[in-house]
Amino acid sequence: MNSIYLPLLRDQLTRLKAAGAEYADVRFHDYDDSESLFFLQGELRNCEQSSTFGLGVRVLVDGAWGFASASNMNDLDSVFQKAFRSAKEAAKCCERPVELADRDVLENVRFKSPCQIDPFDVPLEEKIEFFKEVDAALQKGYVKQRYISYEAEHKHVHFLDSEGSYGARDIVDIFAGMRVVGIDEDGLSQERTYNLTLDPFGTRGWELMRDPKRFIEHAPRIVSELELVLQAPPCPKDVRSVILKPGIMFLQTHEVVGHALELDRILGYELSFAGGSFVTLDDFGNLRYGSDKMNVAADATLPNSPGSFGFDDDGVPCQNIVLIKDGILQSALTSRQTVTEANSKAGRFIFERSGGANSAMDFTRPPIERMTNINILPGTDGTLEDIVRTTEKGIIMDGDRSWSIGSNREQFHFACEIGWLVENGAITGIVRNPTYSSKTLPFWRSMSAVGDRSTCELVQVANCGKGLPSQIMRLGHCVPVCRFDNVQIGL
Ligand SMILES: [Zn+2]
Repeated sequence: MNSIYLPLLRDQLTRLKAAGAEYADVRFHDYDDSESLFFLQGELRNCEQSSTFGLGVRVLVDGAWGFASASNMNDLDSVFQKAFRSAKEAAKCCERPVELADRDVLENVRFKSPCQIDPFDVPLEEKIEFFKEVDAALQKGYVKQRYISYEAEHKHVHFLDSEGSYGARDIVDIFAGMRVVGIDEDGLSQERTYNLTLDPFGTRGWELMRDPKRFIEHAPRIVSELELVLQAPPCPKDVRSVILKPGIMFLQTHEVVGHALELDRILGYELSFAGGSFVTLDDFGNLRYGSDKMNVAADATLPNSPGSFGFDDDGVPCQNIVLIKDGILQSALTSRQTVTEANSKAGRFIFERSGGANSAMDFTRPPIERMTNINILPGTDGTLEDIVRTTEKGIIMDGDRSWSIGSNREQFHFACEIGWLVENGAITGIVRNPTYSSKTLPFWRSMSAVGDRSTCELVQVANCGKGLPSQIMRLGHCVPVCRFDNVQIGL
Protein backbone atom coordinates (compact mmCIF):
# COMPACT_ATOMS: atom_id res chain seq x y z
CA MET A 1 0.00 0.00 0.00
CA ASN A 2 2.99 2.31 0.01
CA SER A 3 3.16 4.59 -2.96
CA ILE A 4 5.90 6.73 -4.43
CA TYR A 5 3.30 9.47 -4.80
CA LEU A 6 2.60 9.96 -1.09
CA PRO A 7 5.46 12.44 -0.41
CA LEU A 8 4.43 14.41 -3.53
CA LEU A 9 0.82 14.57 -2.37
CA ARG A 10 1.92 15.73 1.10
CA ASP A 11 3.98 18.49 -0.50
CA GLN A 12 0.94 19.66 -2.46
CA LEU A 13 -1.22 19.83 0.68
CA THR A 14 1.49 21.83 2.45
CA ARG A 15 1.71 24.18 -0.54
CA LEU A 16 -2.08 24.83 -0.52
CA LYS A 17 -2.03 25.55 3.23
CA ALA A 18 0.78 28.05 2.67
CA ALA A 19 -1.28 29.66 -0.11
CA GLY A 20 -4.17 30.30 2.28
CA ALA A 21 -6.29 27.12 2.30
CA GLU A 22 -8.00 26.43 5.62
CA TYR A 23 -8.03 22.71 4.92
CA ALA A 24 -7.29 20.32 2.05
CA ASP A 25 -7.46 16.59 1.50
CA VAL A 26 -6.68 14.16 -1.26
CA ARG A 27 -7.92 10.67 -2.04
CA PHE A 28 -5.55 8.77 -4.24
CA HIS A 29 -6.76 5.54 -5.81
CA ASP A 30 -3.67 3.41 -6.45
CA TYR A 31 -5.91 1.15 -8.42
CA ASP A 32 -9.60 0.69 -8.75
CA ASP A 33 -10.59 -2.52 -10.55
CA SER A 34 -14.09 -3.63 -11.41
CA GLU A 35 -15.66 -6.51 -13.27
CA SER A 36 -19.28 -7.19 -14.12
CA LEU A 37 -20.93 -10.15 -15.81
CA PHE A 38 -24.53 -10.54 -16.89
CA PHE A 39 -26.17 -13.76 -18.07
CA LEU A 40 -29.56 -14.07 -19.73
CA GLN A 41 -30.91 -17.60 -20.28
CA GLY A 42 -27.46 -18.90 -19.36
CA GLU A 43 -25.72 -16.91 -22.11
CA LEU A 44 -23.09 -14.36 -21.18
CA ARG A 45 -24.60 -11.14 -22.59
CA ASN A 46 -22.31 -8.59 -20.99
CA CYS A 47 -18.78 -8.75 -19.65
CA GLU A 48 -17.07 -5.53 -18.56
CA GLN A 49 -13.71 -5.18 -16.91
CA SER A 50 -12.11 -1.89 -16.05
CA SER A 51 -9.11 -0.60 -14.19
CA THR A 52 -8.74 3.04 -13.21
CA PHE A 53 -6.27 5.13 -11.31
CA GLY A 54 -6.42 8.73 -10.12
CA LEU A 55 -6.97 11.30 -7.41
CA GLY A 56 -9.62 13.68 -6.07
CA VAL A 57 -8.59 16.88 -4.28
CA ARG A 58 -10.86 18.88 -1.98
CA VAL A 59 -9.84 22.31 -0.71
CA LEU A 60 -11.53 24.70 1.73
CA VAL A 61 -10.72 28.37 1.15
CA ASP A 62 -12.51 31.29 2.84
CA GLY A 63 -15.32 28.93 3.92
CA ALA A 64 -16.04 27.41 0.50
CA TRP A 65 -15.16 24.07 -1.06
CA GLY A 66 -13.30 23.52 -4.32
CA PHE A 67 -12.84 20.11 -5.87
CA ALA A 68 -10.84 18.70 -8.79
CA SER A 69 -9.92 15.23 -9.95
CA ALA A 70 -7.60 13.66 -12.52
CA SER A 71 -7.04 10.16 -13.81
CA ASN A 72 -3.31 10.60 -14.11
CA MET A 73 -0.50 11.74 -11.83
CA ASN A 74 1.47 13.65 -14.44
CA ASP A 75 0.66 17.18 -13.37
CA LEU A 76 -0.17 17.30 -9.70
CA ASP A 77 0.42 21.07 -9.53
CA SER A 78 -2.40 21.72 -11.94
CA VAL A 79 -5.06 19.49 -10.31
CA PHE A 80 -4.36 20.88 -6.81
CA GLN A 81 -4.34 24.40 -8.21
CA LYS A 82 -7.65 23.83 -10.00
CA ALA A 83 -9.30 22.74 -6.73
CA PHE A 84 -7.83 25.79 -4.96
CA ARG A 85 -9.05 28.22 -7.66
CA SER A 86 -12.53 26.66 -7.61
CA ALA A 87 -12.73 27.21 -3.86
CA LYS A 88 -11.59 30.83 -4.23
CA GLU A 89 -14.33 31.44 -6.82
CA ALA A 90 -16.98 29.62 -4.75
CA ALA A 91 -16.07 31.72 -1.71
CA LYS A 92 -17.23 34.85 -3.57
CA CYS A 93 -20.82 33.61 -3.46
CA CYS A 94 -20.73 31.53 -0.28
CA GLU A 95 -23.54 32.59 2.06
CA ARG A 96 -22.65 30.31 4.93
CA PRO A 97 -18.95 29.59 5.44
CA VAL A 98 -18.17 25.93 6.00
CA GLU A 99 -16.81 25.07 9.42
CA LEU A 100 -15.38 21.63 10.04
CA ALA A 101 -16.02 19.94 13.37
CA ASP A 102 -12.97 18.92 15.37
CA ARG A 103 -11.77 15.38 15.17
CA ASP A 104 -8.66 13.42 16.04
CA VAL A 105 -6.10 13.23 13.28
CA LEU A 106 -6.23 9.90 11.46
CA GLU A 107 -2.91 8.34 12.33
CA ASN A 108 -1.82 5.78 9.80
CA VAL A 109 -5.09 3.83 9.89
CA ARG A 110 -5.11 0.86 7.53
CA PHE A 111 -8.30 -0.99 6.71
CA LYS A 112 -8.50 -4.23 4.76
CA SER A 113 -11.81 -5.90 4.05
CA PRO A 114 -11.81 -9.60 4.98
CA CYS A 115 -11.25 -11.64 1.82
CA GLN A 116 -9.78 -15.10 1.23
CA ILE A 117 -9.78 -15.25 -2.56
CA ASP A 118 -9.44 -12.02 -4.52
CA PRO A 119 -12.09 -12.32 -7.25
CA PHE A 120 -9.66 -10.70 -9.69
CA ASP A 121 -7.29 -13.67 -9.22
CA VAL A 122 -9.98 -16.09 -10.42
CA PRO A 123 -9.87 -16.76 -14.19
CA LEU A 124 -12.87 -15.49 -16.16
CA GLU A 125 -13.42 -19.00 -17.56
CA GLU A 126 -13.90 -20.37 -14.04
CA LYS A 127 -16.46 -17.67 -13.25
CA ILE A 128 -18.40 -18.32 -16.45
CA GLU A 129 -18.41 -22.05 -15.79
CA PHE A 130 -19.66 -21.44 -12.24
CA PHE A 131 -22.53 -19.20 -13.34
CA LYS A 132 -23.53 -21.67 -16.06
CA GLU A 133 -23.85 -24.26 -13.29
CA VAL A 134 -26.06 -21.84 -11.35
CA ASP A 135 -28.15 -21.25 -14.48
CA ALA A 136 -28.67 -25.00 -14.93
CA ALA A 137 -30.22 -25.07 -11.45
CA LEU A 138 -32.68 -22.32 -12.51
CA GLN A 139 -34.07 -24.18 -15.54
CA LYS A 140 -37.69 -25.37 -15.35
CA GLY A 141 -40.51 -25.35 -17.88
CA TYR A 142 -42.42 -22.52 -16.19
CA VAL A 143 -39.30 -20.32 -15.84
CA LYS A 144 -39.51 -18.09 -18.90
CA GLN A 145 -36.46 -15.94 -18.15
CA ARG A 146 -33.35 -16.53 -16.08
CA TYR A 147 -31.02 -13.70 -15.09
CA ILE A 148 -27.70 -13.87 -13.26
CA SER A 149 -25.61 -10.82 -12.45
CA TYR A 150 -22.21 -10.50 -10.83
CA GLU A 151 -20.07 -7.50 -9.94
CA ALA A 152 -16.76 -7.30 -8.13
CA GLU A 153 -14.57 -4.39 -7.10
CA HIS A 154 -11.11 -4.12 -5.66
CA LYS A 155 -9.91 -0.68 -4.57
CA HIS A 156 -6.75 0.66 -2.98
CA VAL A 157 -7.33 4.15 -1.60
CA HIS A 158 -4.94 6.48 0.24
CA PHE A 159 -6.33 9.44 2.21
CA LEU A 160 -4.16 12.39 3.27
CA ASP A 161 -5.17 15.78 4.64
CA SER A 162 -3.57 19.06 5.62
CA GLU A 163 -4.14 18.30 9.32
CA GLY A 164 -1.62 15.45 9.09
CA SER A 165 -3.97 12.51 8.58
CA TYR A 166 -3.06 9.41 6.65
CA GLY A 167 -5.19 6.33 6.09
CA ALA A 168 -5.31 3.54 3.52
CA ARG A 169 -8.08 1.17 2.46
CA ASP A 170 -7.88 -2.10 0.60
CA ILE A 171 -11.42 -3.16 -0.17
CA VAL A 172 -12.90 -6.08 -2.06
CA ASP A 173 -16.64 -6.26 -2.64
CA ILE A 174 -18.73 -8.87 -4.45
CA PHE A 175 -22.37 -8.50 -5.45
CA ALA A 176 -24.25 -11.30 -7.20
CA GLY A 177 -27.86 -12.12 -7.83
CA MET A 178 -30.15 -14.48 -9.70
CA ARG A 179 -33.73 -13.99 -10.82
CA VAL A 180 -36.34 -16.23 -12.39
CA VAL A 181 -39.41 -14.87 -14.17
CA GLY A 182 -42.63 -16.65 -15.15
CA ILE A 183 -46.02 -15.63 -16.57
CA ASP A 184 -49.17 -16.06 -14.46
CA GLU A 185 -52.70 -16.91 -15.66
CA ASP A 186 -53.44 -13.20 -16.22
CA GLY A 187 -50.44 -12.88 -18.53
CA LEU A 188 -48.49 -10.83 -15.98
CA SER A 189 -44.90 -11.53 -15.06
CA GLN A 190 -43.99 -12.90 -11.64
CA GLU A 191 -40.48 -13.25 -10.30
CA ARG A 192 -38.32 -14.53 -7.50
CA THR A 193 -34.86 -13.18 -6.81
CA TYR A 194 -31.95 -14.03 -4.59
CA ASN A 195 -29.14 -11.55 -3.99
CA LEU A 196 -25.94 -12.62 -2.30
CA THR A 197 -26.10 -11.94 1.45
CA LEU A 198 -23.08 -11.75 3.74
CA ASP A 199 -22.03 -13.18 7.06
CA PRO A 200 -21.20 -9.97 8.98
CA PHE A 201 -18.32 -11.81 10.66
CA GLY A 202 -17.21 -13.75 7.56
CA THR A 203 -15.31 -12.75 4.43
CA ARG A 204 -16.28 -11.26 1.06
CA GLY A 205 -14.03 -12.73 -1.62
CA TRP A 206 -14.74 -15.29 -4.37
CA GLU A 207 -15.00 -17.94 -1.61
CA LEU A 208 -18.52 -16.59 -1.01
CA MET A 209 -19.58 -17.81 -4.42
CA ARG A 210 -18.05 -21.25 -3.80
CA ASP A 211 -20.01 -21.65 -0.56
CA PRO A 212 -23.17 -23.51 -1.72
CA LYS A 213 -25.23 -22.23 1.23
CA ARG A 214 -24.49 -18.62 0.32
CA PHE A 215 -25.46 -18.78 -3.36
CA ILE A 216 -26.19 -21.82 -5.52
CA GLU A 217 -28.42 -23.59 -2.97
CA HIS A 218 -30.85 -20.67 -3.23
CA ALA A 219 -31.47 -21.48 -6.93
CA PRO A 220 -33.88 -24.44 -6.41
CA ARG A 221 -35.62 -22.49 -3.61
CA ILE A 222 -36.46 -19.44 -5.76
CA VAL A 223 -37.51 -21.71 -8.66
CA SER A 224 -39.96 -23.65 -6.49
CA GLU A 225 -41.26 -20.45 -4.85
CA LEU A 226 -41.88 -18.99 -8.33
CA GLU A 227 -43.99 -22.04 -9.20
CA LEU A 228 -46.09 -21.47 -6.06
CA VAL A 229 -46.50 -17.75 -6.85
CA LEU A 230 -47.61 -18.50 -10.43
CA GLN A 231 -50.41 -20.71 -9.11
CA ALA A 232 -51.37 -18.41 -6.23
CA PRO A 233 -54.41 -16.11 -5.99
CA PRO A 234 -53.83 -12.34 -5.88
CA CYS A 235 -53.05 -10.58 -2.61
CA PRO A 236 -56.32 -9.44 -0.95
CA LYS A 237 -57.09 -5.79 -0.22
CA ASP A 238 -57.09 -5.77 3.55
CA VAL A 239 -55.65 -4.29 6.72
CA ARG A 240 -53.39 -6.83 8.43
CA SER A 241 -50.19 -7.37 10.36
CA VAL A 242 -47.29 -7.40 7.92
CA ILE A 243 -44.31 -9.64 8.70
CA LEU A 244 -41.28 -8.59 6.65
CA LYS A 245 -38.42 -10.99 5.92
CA PRO A 246 -34.91 -9.51 5.47
CA GLY A 247 -35.36 -9.59 1.65
CA ILE A 248 -37.78 -6.61 1.96
CA MET A 249 -37.02 -5.44 5.51
CA PHE A 250 -33.65 -4.13 4.27
CA LEU A 251 -35.36 -1.82 1.76
CA GLN A 252 -37.97 -0.70 4.28
CA THR A 253 -35.07 0.33 6.53
CA HIS A 254 -33.04 1.84 3.70
CA GLU A 255 -35.71 4.10 2.27
CA VAL A 256 -37.49 5.58 5.26
CA VAL A 257 -34.91 5.30 8.04
CA GLY A 258 -31.49 5.46 6.35
CA HIS A 259 -32.25 8.11 3.73
CA ALA A 260 -34.46 10.09 6.12
CA LEU A 261 -31.58 10.37 8.60
CA GLU A 262 -28.90 11.76 6.29
CA LEU A 263 -28.08 15.09 7.86
CA ASP A 264 -27.49 16.88 4.53
CA ARG A 265 -31.07 15.99 3.52
CA ILE A 266 -32.36 17.21 6.88
CA LEU A 267 -30.54 20.49 6.24
CA GLY A 268 -32.15 20.70 2.78
CA TYR A 269 -29.14 19.97 0.55
CA GLU A 270 -30.70 17.14 -1.45
CA LEU A 271 -34.00 18.84 -2.30
CA SER A 272 -33.09 19.33 -5.95
CA PHE A 273 -32.42 15.67 -6.59
CA ALA A 274 -33.10 12.87 -4.12
CA GLY A 275 -35.51 14.85 -1.92
CA GLY A 276 -35.54 16.01 1.69
CA SER A 277 -36.52 14.49 5.00
CA PHE A 278 -39.54 14.91 7.24
CA VAL A 279 -37.10 14.90 10.19
CA THR A 280 -36.23 18.32 11.64
CA LEU A 281 -33.40 19.37 13.92
CA ASP A 282 -35.91 19.74 16.77
CA ASP A 283 -36.66 16.02 16.55
CA PHE A 284 -33.33 14.70 17.85
CA GLY A 285 -33.76 13.31 21.34
CA ASN A 286 -37.55 13.82 21.13
CA LEU A 287 -39.25 12.23 18.15
CA ARG A 288 -40.96 8.89 18.68
CA TYR A 289 -39.96 7.33 15.37
CA GLY A 290 -41.14 3.83 16.19
CA SER A 291 -42.41 1.57 18.94
CA ASP A 292 -40.11 0.83 21.86
CA LYS A 293 -39.05 -2.34 20.01
CA MET A 294 -37.30 -0.23 17.35
CA ASN A 295 -33.54 0.06 17.78
CA VAL A 296 -31.43 1.23 14.86
CA ALA A 297 -27.66 1.62 14.51
CA ALA A 298 -25.40 3.00 11.80
CA ASP A 299 -22.69 0.44 12.37
CA ALA A 300 -19.66 0.93 10.16
CA THR A 301 -17.61 -1.31 12.44
CA LEU A 302 -19.18 -4.59 11.30
CA PRO A 303 -16.17 -6.62 10.19
CA ASN A 304 -17.61 -7.69 6.85
CA SER A 305 -19.94 -5.41 4.92
CA PRO A 306 -19.63 -2.88 2.07
CA GLY A 307 -20.81 -0.25 4.60
CA SER A 308 -17.59 -0.74 6.62
CA PHE A 309 -14.49 0.99 5.28
CA GLY A 310 -12.19 1.88 8.18
CA PHE A 311 -12.57 5.66 7.94
CA ASP A 312 -14.71 8.01 5.88
CA ASP A 313 -13.64 10.58 3.29
CA ASP A 314 -13.36 13.27 5.98
CA GLY A 315 -10.70 11.05 7.56
CA VAL A 316 -13.02 10.22 10.47
CA PRO A 317 -12.81 6.62 11.77
CA CYS A 318 -15.81 4.33 11.24
CA GLN A 319 -18.11 4.15 14.25
CA ASN A 320 -21.16 2.39 15.59
CA ILE A 321 -23.75 5.16 16.10
CA VAL A 322 -27.12 4.66 17.79
CA LEU A 323 -29.68 6.33 15.50
CA ILE A 324 -32.88 5.25 17.25
CA LYS A 325 -33.09 3.85 20.78
CA ASP A 326 -36.28 2.22 22.08
CA GLY A 327 -38.15 4.06 19.33
CA ILE A 328 -36.78 7.55 20.07
CA LEU A 329 -34.66 9.39 17.47
CA GLN A 330 -31.10 9.96 18.74
CA SER A 331 -28.74 10.76 15.88
CA ALA A 332 -28.16 10.96 12.13
CA LEU A 333 -25.65 10.17 9.40
CA THR A 334 -23.19 13.02 9.67
CA SER A 335 -20.02 14.64 8.38
CA ARG A 336 -17.61 17.20 9.85
CA GLN A 337 -19.34 19.98 7.93
CA THR A 338 -22.98 19.19 8.64
CA VAL A 339 -22.69 18.58 12.40
CA THR A 340 -21.34 22.12 12.86
CA GLU A 341 -24.02 23.64 10.67
CA ALA A 342 -26.80 21.63 12.33
CA ASN A 343 -25.68 22.54 15.87
CA SER A 344 -25.50 26.18 14.89
CA LYS A 345 -28.92 26.22 13.16
CA ALA A 346 -30.54 24.34 16.05
CA GLY A 347 -29.00 26.67 18.62
CA ARG A 348 -28.09 23.62 20.72
CA PHE A 349 -25.46 20.92 20.77
CA ILE A 350 -27.16 17.98 19.02
CA PHE A 351 -24.08 16.29 17.57
CA GLU A 352 -20.84 16.01 19.51
CA ARG A 353 -18.74 15.28 16.45
CA SER A 354 -18.92 13.69 13.03
CA GLY A 355 -20.27 10.14 12.91
CA GLY A 356 -17.94 9.26 10.03
CA ALA A 357 -20.50 8.93 7.23
CA ASN A 358 -19.07 11.24 4.55
CA SER A 359 -18.17 9.20 1.48
CA ALA A 360 -17.58 9.62 -2.24
CA MET A 361 -18.36 7.09 -4.95
CA ASP A 362 -14.85 7.33 -6.40
CA PHE A 363 -12.06 9.86 -6.92
CA THR A 364 -14.09 11.86 -9.44
CA ARG A 365 -16.63 13.03 -6.83
CA PRO A 366 -16.46 14.93 -3.53
CA PRO A 367 -17.91 13.14 -0.47
CA ILE A 368 -21.49 13.57 0.77
CA GLU A 369 -23.40 11.97 3.67
CA ARG A 370 -23.98 8.31 2.88
CA MET A 371 -25.38 5.37 4.79
CA THR A 372 -22.90 3.00 6.38
CA ASN A 373 -24.62 -0.19 7.60
CA ILE A 374 -28.05 0.86 8.81
CA ASN A 375 -29.11 -2.07 10.95
CA ILE A 376 -32.24 -2.93 12.88
CA LEU A 377 -31.01 -4.52 16.10
CA PRO A 378 -32.39 -8.00 16.77
CA GLY A 379 -35.18 -8.30 19.32
CA THR A 380 -36.58 -10.84 21.72
CA ASP A 381 -39.55 -12.17 19.77
CA GLY A 382 -37.86 -15.36 18.60
CA THR A 383 -37.84 -16.94 15.16
CA LEU A 384 -40.12 -16.32 12.18
CA GLU A 385 -42.18 -19.32 13.35
CA ASP A 386 -42.52 -17.78 16.83
CA ILE A 387 -43.70 -14.48 15.31
CA VAL A 388 -46.20 -16.26 13.06
CA ARG A 389 -47.57 -18.18 16.07
CA THR A 390 -48.47 -14.91 17.79
CA THR A 391 -50.05 -13.32 14.70
CA GLU A 392 -53.83 -13.46 14.43
CA LYS A 393 -54.29 -12.09 10.92
CA GLY A 394 -51.22 -11.25 8.88
CA ILE A 395 -49.11 -11.66 5.79
CA ILE A 396 -45.40 -12.48 5.46
CA MET A 397 -43.67 -10.73 2.56
CA ASP A 398 -40.29 -11.15 0.89
CA GLY A 399 -38.40 -9.84 -2.17
CA ASP A 400 -38.55 -6.23 -3.39
CA ARG A 401 -40.29 -5.73 -6.75
CA SER A 402 -41.00 -2.00 -6.79
CA TRP A 403 -41.04 0.92 -4.42
CA SER A 404 -42.41 4.43 -4.32
CA ILE A 405 -41.33 6.81 -1.58
CA GLY A 406 -42.56 10.29 -0.60
CA SER A 407 -40.06 13.02 -1.46
CA ASN A 408 -39.50 13.69 2.24
CA ARG A 409 -39.61 9.97 3.11
CA GLU A 410 -42.87 10.52 4.97
CA GLN A 411 -44.79 7.71 3.23
CA PHE A 412 -44.15 4.68 1.02
CA HIS A 413 -45.59 1.88 -1.08
CA PHE A 414 -43.71 -1.39 -1.62
CA ALA A 415 -44.55 -4.29 -3.93
CA CYS A 416 -43.01 -7.65 -3.06
CA GLU A 417 -42.41 -10.89 -4.91
CA ILE A 418 -44.21 -13.34 -2.63
CA GLY A 419 -46.67 -13.27 0.27
CA TRP A 420 -47.74 -15.96 2.75
CA LEU A 421 -51.09 -15.33 4.46
CA VAL A 422 -51.22 -15.98 8.20
CA GLU A 423 -54.45 -16.77 10.07
CA ASN A 424 -54.66 -17.56 13.78
CA GLY A 425 -50.97 -18.27 14.20
CA ALA A 426 -50.41 -20.43 11.11
CA ILE A 427 -49.49 -19.95 7.44
CA THR A 428 -52.56 -20.72 5.32
CA GLY A 429 -51.45 -20.05 1.73
CA ILE A 430 -49.37 -18.08 -0.76
CA VAL A 431 -50.49 -14.96 -2.70
CA ARG A 432 -49.05 -13.14 -5.70
CA ASN A 433 -48.56 -9.39 -6.18
CA PRO A 434 -48.38 -8.63 -2.44
CA THR A 435 -48.09 -4.92 -1.68
CA TYR A 436 -48.23 -2.74 1.41
CA SER A 437 -48.25 0.98 2.01
CA SER A 438 -48.21 3.31 4.98
CA LYS A 439 -47.00 6.55 6.48
CA THR A 440 -43.49 6.28 7.91
CA LEU A 441 -44.09 7.19 11.56
CA PRO A 442 -47.39 5.33 12.15
CA PHE A 443 -45.84 2.28 10.47
CA TRP A 444 -42.72 2.11 12.65
CA ARG A 445 -44.78 2.95 15.74
CA SER A 446 -46.88 -0.16 14.98
CA MET A 447 -43.78 -2.42 15.10
CA SER A 448 -44.98 -5.23 17.36
CA ALA A 449 -42.36 -7.98 17.00
CA VAL A 450 -38.64 -8.07 16.22
CA GLY A 451 -37.01 -11.41 15.49
CA ASP A 452 -33.93 -12.66 17.30
CA ARG A 453 -30.39 -12.82 15.94
CA SER A 454 -31.12 -16.10 14.09
CA THR A 455 -33.56 -14.22 11.81
CA CYS A 456 -31.01 -11.53 10.81
CA GLU A 457 -29.44 -11.35 7.38
CA LEU A 458 -26.88 -8.87 6.09
CA VAL A 459 -28.36 -7.72 2.78
CA GLN A 460 -26.10 -5.73 0.45
CA VAL A 461 -27.21 -2.65 -1.49
CA ALA A 462 -25.11 -2.25 -4.63
CA ASN A 463 -26.73 0.81 -6.14
CA CYS A 464 -27.83 3.47 -3.66
CA GLY A 465 -28.12 6.69 -5.66
CA LYS A 466 -27.76 10.23 -4.33
CA GLY A 467 -26.21 13.59 -5.12
CA LEU A 468 -25.81 15.91 -8.06
CA PRO A 469 -23.90 14.86 -10.08
CA SER A 470 -25.16 11.44 -9.19
CA GLN A 471 -23.15 9.07 -7.03
CA ILE A 472 -23.75 5.35 -6.47
CA MET A 473 -22.83 3.90 -3.10
CA ARG A 474 -22.53 0.33 -1.77
CA LEU A 475 -23.60 -0.54 1.75
CA GLY A 476 -25.29 -3.16 3.88
CA HIS A 477 -28.30 -3.61 6.14
CA CYS A 478 -28.24 -6.28 8.84
CA VAL A 479 -31.92 -6.74 9.61
CA PRO A 480 -34.14 -9.29 11.41
CA VAL A 481 -37.68 -10.43 10.61
CA CYS A 482 -40.07 -7.72 11.90
CA ARG A 483 -43.85 -7.42 12.30
CA PHE A 484 -45.96 -4.26 11.94
CA ASP A 485 -49.68 -4.09 12.78
CA ASN A 486 -52.75 -2.63 11.04
CA VAL A 487 -51.06 -2.08 7.69
CA GLN A 488 -52.93 -1.57 4.42
CA ILE A 489 -52.11 -4.34 1.93
CA GLY A 490 -53.14 -5.14 -1.63
CA LEU A 491 -53.45 -1.61 -3.03
ZN1 LIG B 1 -30.59 4.55 -1.45
